[in-house]
Amino acid sequence: MKVNLLGAGIDRLSIEECTYRIGEFIEQGAPRFVVTLNPELLYQAQFYSELLDMVNQADLVTPDGVGIVWACRVKGEPVPGRVTGIDLMLGLLERAAEKGWRVFLLGSAPGVAEDAALNIVEKYPGLHVVGTHHGYFTPGDEPGLIEAIRKTRPHLLFVALGAPRQEQWIYAHRQRLGVPVAMGIGGSLDVLAGRVPRAPAWMQTLHVEWLGRLLRQPSRWRRMLVLPKFAFMVLRTYLKKGRIASCRR
Ligand code: UDP
Repeated sequence: MKVNLLGAGIDRLSIEECTYRIGEFIEQGAPRFVVTLNPELLYQAQFYSELLDMVNQADLVTPDGVGIVWACRVKGEPVPGRVTGIDLMLGLLERAAEKGWRVFLLGSAPGVAEDAALNIVEKYPGLHVVGTHHGYFTPGDEPGLIEAIRKTRPHLLFVALGAPRQEQWIYAHRQRLGVPVAMGIGGSLDVLAGRVPRAPAWMQTLHVEWLGRLLRQPSRWRRMLVLPKFAFMVLRTYLKKGRIASCRR
């Protein structure tokens, strides 16, 4: 079951259900891709129809962050909770270690994916990271990179190139990659490599992780200007409709 939020279909699944669904994708083996949809991406997709089409072609779309969860509630079709890229990735890594799924990490600055791999293998004993590659490649490097990924036959490909580039890259190459599940993870490798600390637990609990990121990386403020615009768009779209509907009753 999906919620149609500003034209994007979002799966109404908890993080456990998403992990289970992804496990089914892996068993089936055909190339699938997952989008963790945050307000910035959904807002941008309002102005670029090809971005919205791409989101709607994804095999699983999760509500990434409190902004999307709130918007679904405003629409009157609540989702069980947020399913962020890093949390979903951690859940999948745990299952990957149990099930023997092979993992490939692509993206971030040179050295980051390697350090992230060392840390996650230590955290999840038995985890099989079959390859890593940084995210600063040129279009000319792509055929070799895709071949390198194919050769290692990962079940899960995590791509950290920043949104929406990571989703567009996966979408463009998913058939050639032939990986059962690929998903974008933004800055997660920087966190897993220990380059960037994750927000403290209390910030995660209060759903203000974004504030922690803003305080650490003030250069993000420009991107965050989208959030009030997104909120306004949600209220204008769904409150107005709700009022009209209640007037007609
Ligand atoms: N990145 C990359 N190649 C690029 C541009 C960015 O690998 O050409 C990486 C960057 O090093 C960082 C990640 O993509 O690790 C993007 O992180 P950000 O926090 O901006 O992503 P978000 O979670 O906001 O999408």
